[in-house]
Amino acid sequence: MSQFGDGGLPGSKPYVSSGSYINRMSDYCSACAYSVQVRVGDKACPFNALYWDFLARHRDRLKGNHRLTMLYRTWDSQSSEDQAAVLTQAQKLLRQIV
Ligand code: SF4
Repeated sequence: MSQFGDGGLPGSKPYVSSGSYINRMSDYCSACAYSVQVRVGDKACPFNALYWDFLARHRDRLKGNHRLTMLYRTWDSQSSEDQAAVLTQAQKLLRQIV
């Protein structure tokens, strides 16, 4: 996200990730108390809900970025109930850190 603070001059998309990417790029998740594959609930990796919440909240600004097209398609393919659960999870997390 910091690399996108200028609107995308050096970085062509926000540097934001779900737990899956962190898991792929590190060995942190194997020893974590959270479940990297889970998006909602007490055991859910917080990066998952926060990732989708970020993309959903900034959709108007980011939807024209061709590197994010597949991500928004993935989000749009989810049921409205699943989307609402993820966004609610993100709001709970954000309330804990703000
Ligand atoms: S919070 Fe835990 S499960 Fe989620 S990305 Fe970090 S180490 Fe992995």
